[in-house]
Amino acid sequence: MVKAFGGVRVLNGVSMDVRAREVVVVVGPSGSGKTTFLRCLNHLESIDEGEILVHGRRVGYKDGLDRLVEERPRAIAARRRNIGFVFQRFNLFPHLSALDNVAVAPVKVLGVPKAEAREQAHALLTRVGLAHKASSRPSVLSGGQQQRVAIARALAMKPELMLFDEPTSALDPEMVGEVVTVMKELVEDGLTMIVVTHEMGFARSAADRLVMFDQGVILEEGTPEKLMTDPDHQRTRAFLRRID
Ligand code: ADP
Repeated sequence: MVKAFGGVRVLNGVSMDVRAREVVVVVGPSGSGKTTFLRCLNHLESIDEGEILVHGRRVGYKDGLDRLVEERPRAIAARRRNIGFVFQRFNLFPHLSALDNVAVAPVKVLGVPKAEAREQAHALLTRVGLAHKASSRPSVLSGGQQQRVAIARALAMKPELMLFDEPTSALDPEMVGEVVTVMKELVEDGLTMIVVTHEMGFARSAADRLVMFDQGVILEEGTPEKLMTDPDHQRTRAFLRRID
């Protein structure tokens, strides 16, 4: 996949094949293209070359989305529906309760009856340990709690792939653990996940594969154990030593 901004190639031929139930952790220096990669996967950015496949099915490719202009929004929405995205900065709806934040998309996008969506939302809030905050608005929740609501909201769409963009980097240190714990539980549940994070504890215990981005390409990838103890590239060694 290639993505350029104003002629500058930010992703310069990134190719990744993720198996169902696989957990991939992406690391790399600031500006190496990690966020852009996730945004392309979720169609928040269009791509300039290449294609995107999820579970072997094509979900994004340059010509496909450009072909019929009037179909674009619908085509993009349909493809995005199967991919959950958890942002660095939560992005909850401030005027809605935690429960409604989780229930709103299934009602509006999938047409799930309201009562059923609220019941599911309650179950999801329970799963992330926040049933007791169901009626709270985001502003009265801690950062860690807001991020857990954001995870529940993404799960409510029953995505086949979950993307996390530095989900703990906007949190106070004491709140990182509760979010990492929830993410580890999702791994146990068998979700397919691509996680951009510098939480090496999570990578070590939960990732099947660690991928090192550098200047818009995958510099190297392998098991967390391999990259952390015996990387092929000096840059990987230096980078992982710095963040661990
Ligand atoms: P990372 O997540 O690894 O820090 P990013 O994907 O955010 O890297 O950014 C990669 C490069 O793309 C950076 O040089 C950044 O400035 C540039 N970039 C990202 N988004 C845009 C944009 N919308 N317009 C122009 N340049 C962008």
